[in-house]
Amino acid sequence: MRWNWHRLILAFALALAAPAVAAPPPVVSDVRVAQNGKHTRFVLNLSEKVDFEIFTLADPYRIVIDFPEVAWRLDPAATQASAGLVKGFRFGLFKPGRSRMVIDLASPASIKNKFLLPPEGERRYRLVLDLGQVARKEYLTTSGWPTDTHAESSSPAETEPEVEMAARAPAAKRVVVIDAGHGGVDPGATGVDGTHEKDLVLSLAKALRDALERSGKYVVVMSRDSDIFLSLKARVAVGRKARADLFISLHADSAPGSMVRGASVYTLSERASDKEAEALAKSENQSDIIAGVDLTNEADVVTSILIDLAQRETKNSAVKFAQVLVPELQRAGEVTQKSHRFAGFVVLKAPDVPSVLVEVGYLSNRQDESVMNTNRWRKRMADSIARAVDRYFRTSRGDHKAEAEP
Ligand SMILES: [Zn+2]
Repeated sequence: MRWNWHRLILAFALALAAPAVAAPPPVVSDVRVAQNGKHTRFVLNLSEKVDFEIFTLADPYRIVIDFPEVAWRLDPAATQASAGLVKGFRFGLFKPGRSRMVIDLASPASIKNKFLLPPEGERRYRLVLDLGQVARKEYLTTSGWPTDTHAESSSPAETEPEVEMAARAPAAKRVVVIDAGHGGVDPGATGVDGTHEKDLVLSLAKALRDALERSGKYVVVMSRDSDIFLSLKARVAVGRKARADLFISLHADSAPGSMVRGASVYTLSERASDKEAEALAKSENQSDIIAGVDLTNEADVVTSILIDLAQRETKNSAVKFAQVLVPELQRAGEVTQKSHRFAGFVVLKAPDVPSVLVEVGYLSNRQDESVMNTNRWRKRMADSIARAVDRYFRTSRGDHKAEAEP
């Protein structure tokens, strides 16, 4: 009977905490993948009937399933399931009110059957997809964004969080945007011991926000403060909309070779400073692809802004910040050998906002991963970035022009 009590207490606590909250979202409780003859069957268990929308995308081949907001209660083992045409899958919040699952395909496949099975005995609703292999040519004729959601998913406004524009004026405080990388359906890198980059950088982002706000000198805007997906374009838009004086994107990725550890700072450049930096930018720029974002109208944004003269000054300011940040990071812990590097990160491309991307450590390194999961590390890291922000604004006097180092 014990769990009944737990449930009762939980229900009571929830009722107290949020009396006005609507019914809980439908729950996704299990995923199964199996090869059945020529077909790969993908089954999701759902607590109730939900509307869903499915479409396929190419390069890489993947299937996107959109739901109203659902709660994911999957056994960690179930999230590793793969068989036949299904290589793996991700899921999470895509935007408020909308959850998404993205299934990675081993090769082009068409959805031969899709249906929602009603409850049967113990089982609740089941969403069933049968996938069959097809040629690339055939795949391409049916893949793409559904026409009715096309405009919606390509609009950055949809995913842009509210930003208080008025916040800036009164005290002329500096505006710092903290961008926690990844989120929701895009988990980012996964550590050797299972840490998700999206969670690690969000808690660091919050610690950094607190450190900056404590000083009373800054208005801090977070690109996200919950586990939700945000497109790269939307992140850039947050910085521009807030008329940020500084944009700091936080990441913790993995690198080939588990020996690499320590922090690095990246600023924008059309030409990457080295192969690793280029590879990293390439993988970070995949975020939208990973989450199944419509990039049809993205190309112009990505290319037109770049190599703009107006951007030069912004870039110089970003470099300036990187130069004060590296020694602070060094004091806080390990940094990589080439601690300041350059590459074409989409998230750094606001033409008028000095932007840096900090890789705070490597989840592919077990030592880095366990250190980064401690409160002590988080505080040190947040404090050291905050100190660098202070130093940067002290020496740049706010006109973004580089001054001689003292
Ligand atoms: Zn990342």
